[in-house]
Amino acid sequence: MSAYDLVIIGAGPGGYTGAIRAAQLGLKVALIEKEKTLGGTCLNVGCIPSKALLESSEHYAAAQHDLKNHGVEVGSVKLNLEQMMGRKDKIVKDLTGGIVFLMKKNKVDVYNGRGRLLSPTQVEVSSDTGKQVLETKNVMLATGSVVNTLPSLRFDGKTVISSTEALSLAKVPNHLIVVGGGVIGLELGSVWLRLGAKVTVLEYMDRICPIMDTQITKRLQTILGKQGMEFLFQVKVTGAKVSNSEVEITYEDLANQGQKTLSGDVVLVATGRKPYSEQLGLEELGIERDQRGFVPVNEKLQTKYPNIYAIGDLIPGPMLAHKAEEEGVAVAEIIAGHAGHVNYETVPNVVYTWPELASVGATEEQLKENAIPYKVGTFSFAPNGRAKAIGMTDGMVKILAHAQTDRLLGVHVLGPRASDMIAEAVVAMEFGGSAEDLARTFHAHPTLSEVMREAALAVDKRARQS
Ligand code: FAD
Ligand code: NAD
Repeated sequence: MSAYDLVIIGAGPGGYTGAIRAAQLGLKVALIEKEKTLGGTCLNVGCIPSKALLESSEHYAAAQHDLKNHGVEVGSVKLNLEQMMGRKDKIVKDLTGGIVFLMKKNKVDVYNGRGRLLSPTQVEVSSDTGKQVLETKNVMLATGSVVNTLPSLRFDGKTVISSTEALSLAKVPNHLIVVGGGVIGLELGSVWLRLGAKVTVLEYMDRICPIMDTQITKRLQTILGKQGMEFLFQVKVTGAKVSNSEVEITYEDLANQGQKTLSGDVVLVATGRKPYSEQLGLEELGIERDQRGFVPVNEKLQTKYPNIYAIGDLIPGPMLAHKAEEEGVAVAEIIAGHAGHVNYETVPNVVYTWPELASVGATEEQLKENAIPYKVGTFSFAPNGRAKAIGMTDGMVKILAHAQTDRLLGVHVLGPRASDMIAEAVVAMEFGGSAEDLARTFHAHPTLSEVMREAALAVDKRARQS
């Protein structure tokens, strides 16, 4: 007799969300986590603390630069970094504590320790207090990811750091060098830029966020440049020399073929993350990983063993919390005999800079590459009444629709609260909607969402404002 219907290894957003859904469906569930707190990368050192600091630093920047435009004079503005970090830590504590409550409420047994597969139906949990073996009908591997390391830049936790340390610096760096102009580099670069650091981003490719739509990322690049963020593109870091309070980076200028140096006091390495499956027992069971370390799965998220599933950052696909969550839910539903399914065509992707960049579906480059005929409608936030009232008119919405059917293929928003605005496009695409559907839908006035409607009208060349 198996003690459990499902044992989940890893309590990140994929694991804990899957645990709740499985329990709701009447399964007996165990959740194993090696860290002291639940919530995984996202709650502890990812999505949540970064967004808390982005929000606080935005207030600091607004108090310094924007409030006076609204007629609000606040005198001299002082940064209390300790308070800002304390607020962030409290949010993390509240949310990770909330997961403990949710597990209790849903009668999920939580084990604190390292999980390892012994056989397709046995999982060992080891902790300081000893080892035990859980018998189970099914296993969900949800062990997530860890930061990528560069051979030329060794982390020392103080001068050469990862996103984890960049979320808890005790003082504002004078010059923060960010290696990698992707989402972490831009978000955490923005935090420290707003708090007063000089920030230089070194990116291997010729633009920021190279996998996102070029037109819209180029526009974000210009806006971030105006905020003071500096960029060096097409560079390859080859080494770092750390002395007392300084670090000198050596890099190859790929466009101009030369070695150059750059000095700063902190280097944040943000060149991607890699799946984590150390000591998980995969080799022993013959569960393969691809070249990049991801565990391949079929459309039901099964590994080579039909009762061992894998989800989230551990498997190929975008490394996003909401993608991990949907996969956790799908696995729980499949095990309970339902039709669990994830629609990978509609995974939204958000960069929480100011303005924010949010997108869903194809980029214009992808449509060209795949010879898919398309129409495009764009509309700027500049003439939008609400954007003017907020004082945030930078940005645009870009809608890509099929040339013949008008079906929505991709939506890209660069603007205030784009992260919330993209939800409308995700729903429309989930329902197979067209640009005309968006254009004919009521949008309250005055709201930022009217820009979405105007862009949808622009697909058919009938935007009302110009
Ligand atoms: P994880 O959250 O990584 O959780 C895996 C868990 O498994 C961990 O707690 C780990 O300790 C545990 N574990 C691993 N091995 C074992 C074992 N053998 N036994 C027991 N436990 C084990 N995504 C977004 O969608 N939006 C954002 O705004 C966002 N911001 C981010 C900001 C930063 C700075 C970072 C680093 C990431 C961010 N992400 C964001 C990405 C997001 O955090 C991940 O995509 C998400 O956490 C993946 O969820 P997961 O459940 O697959 O894995
Ligand atoms: P990323 O893949 O977003 O960006 C890495 C960047 O580094 C890329 O632009 C790449 O071209 C560049 N790069 C790679 N090697 C380089 C090198 N040697 N020198 C210079 N540049 C180099 O990765 P990330 O920013 O580290 O984020 C990791 C993951 O975490 C992402 O996959 C992302 O999905 C997730 N995340 C999501 C959010 C969010 O949803 N808002 C926020 C943070 C992190």
